[in-house]
Amino acid sequence: VLSDLTGAPVKVVSTAGIGTLTPEEFIARIAAELRDFMHESGVPLDRIIGVGIANPGEIDSRDGRISWSSTMDPQYFSIVEAITDASGLPVVIENDAGCVALGEFWSGRMSSDQDFVTLYLASGVGFALMIDGALYRGASSNVGGFQHVVADPGGAECWCGSRGCLRTVSSPVAVIEAARRDPSLIDLVGPEDVGLALAGVGGSELYLGFRTLVEAANDGDEAAGRVVDTAARFLANAVLGLVNVLDLGKVVLAGPGFDDAGERYRALIAEALDTEALMRKRHGVQVELRRGGDELAALGAAAVVLHKLLTPHHDPQ
Ligand SMILES: [Zn+2]
Repeated sequence: VLSDLTGAPVKVVSTAGIGTLTPEEFIARIAAELRDFMHESGVPLDRIIGVGIANPGEIDSRDGRISWSSTMDPQYFSIVEAITDASGLPVVIENDAGCVALGEFWSGRMSSDQDFVTLYLASGVGFALMIDGALYRGASSNVGGFQHVVADPGGAECWCGSRGCLRTVSSPVAVIEAARRDPSLIDLVGPEDVGLALAGVGGSELYLGFRTLVEAANDGDEAAGRVVDTAARFLANAVLGLVNVLDLGKVVLAGPGFDDAGERYRALIAEALDTEALMRKRHGVQVELRRGGDELAALGAAAVVLHKLLTPHHDPQ
């Protein structure tokens, strides 16, 4: 997405996902696509102030390296260095949930005295926390471990080494896998392995299955509704814990997963907070849904560029 200084999109392009490309092949393709995109936009290069990358996985923010796979033994390479070389522009990187959170802040929907969390539902459950107008970064800019909070002790094994993590019960992948175990739903989501679909074009097959299931749930299919709402309740419980620990007043839901199932998840999260949040008699907790899929994270990545240029004191050291 090419964005102007107000955070409005000027030009948008969507291309194929990683598939089975190696890091070197993928970076070369992205660099070429970025050069074409900037050229076709008609905006002179000296008017473009930087490139922001929304990354779904683990980041080393000091040198912009990302992990290539979501395993405990990831392969690291520096996407920031490669895109800087390809574009000739300053490049910043942030996790996708963090991009959406900063985009919310820069677009003026949130004031700097309002702390809030953003949950980003894509293949997993991303997380970002904004405090006093700054993104909370933790020790290594990898705050997104919220999806590895144990939600179902004794549940399925997660790649992180734990069991029953939020990722394994609340993500679109988890919902589809749960549906595949129900004979009455197998026709809706198909018997294909979700892990394989994820390696395809931007995970679009995954969202297709997830969307089909959510639509069936919304049309009154009880089995589909049970599977989706079970996932949403696990997330609602985890959000309740988070809101109680941090005394939050606002939760933002974004990402392609919430485009499909957002209203079901939002309603169950809001219900849990209304009836069980520790501070419910002092203040309510707003749960707001943002639609816009992947584009929201890409737009937010442009806000990360602005944030870095205008508030460098908030950058990680
Ligand atoms: Zn885990």
